[in-house]
Amino acid sequence: KNVSGMEIETKPDVTYETIGGLEDQIVEVKETVELPLKEPELFEKIGIDPPKGILLYGPPGTGKTLLAKAVANETNATFIKIVASEFVKKYIGEGARLVREVFELAKEKAPAIIFIDELDAVAAKRLKSSTSGDREVQRTLMQLLAELDGFESRGDIGIIGATNRPDILDPALLRPGRFDRFIEVPLPNDEGRKEILKIHTEKMALDEEADLDVLSSLTDGLSGADLKAVCTEAGMFAIREKRDKVTVADFMDAVDKVVDSNQDNFPEEA
Ligand code: ATP
Repeated sequence: KNVSGMEIETKPDVTYETIGGLEDQIVEVKETVELPLKEPELFEKIGIDPPKGILLYGPPGTGKTLLAKAVANETNATFIKIVASEFVKKYIGEGARLVREVFELAKEKAPAIIFIDELDAVAAKRLKSSTSGDREVQRTLMQLLAELDGFESRGDIGIIGATNRPDILDPALLRPGRFDRFIEVPLPNDEGRKEILKIHTEKMALDEEADLDVLSSLTDGLSGADLKAVCTEAGMFAIREKRDKVTVADFMDAVDKVVDSNQDNFPEEA
């Protein structure tokens, strides 16, 4: 459901089992976001504030959104997603209001996970120049900082930010009590790709030779999102040729296609 710039899911169906190659990240997310939501009394007893916000950073398509959704699933929380870059492109002049509304909604629906994707779009280091666009971004960031500072984390609202560009974030956002935990979500290694491919080929009719070791070795450098696309494309090649098994050759063609289309998109992404 999309209410003016927000995406809201009552309980996303993503579970940790559908995320491959991110075991360490899952452990960290459980400790920093899930535990405060599930057992706030642990923090009260010991007398420390639970972490308020965590930042997931790494290349596109590596599973940051999946992680945030899995936490919401595990804690029966409402998942509220906003894409910060859209404040700047689509909802011009409304960024600050949207941020305020998101936090209001989260309090209303608590327990809730607020997921802010592409955080860098409103939180890049402050620029000297000040065009009206920059001022709009500034206002949105100020509102976000105010909301983060303003609410007492009782643990029933988890805030997860995501970015591909942690290097350009304004340090103000990363201070204690704001986004003060950082979890890297990198491209999968060989083992990680095997796990992700296992998840996405689970229901596929694979040729005997197309085992996970072979498929993993064909897909070095690809993200989880790429791997999913490769599986779909490989299946399409098999269907087109009216075969009832997906072959290694289908996967090789699919990798070429996905890599090509990533390159086509590159100028827009940059
Ligand atoms: P972005 O930074 O572009 O928002 P992201 O890191 O949030 O990307 P997701 O939206 O979580 O990436 O991933 C997109 C899709 O790719 C997922 O819905 C899933 O199908 C697949 N995918 C990505 N990473 C993984 C993974 N680690 N395990 C299984 N599937 C994955």
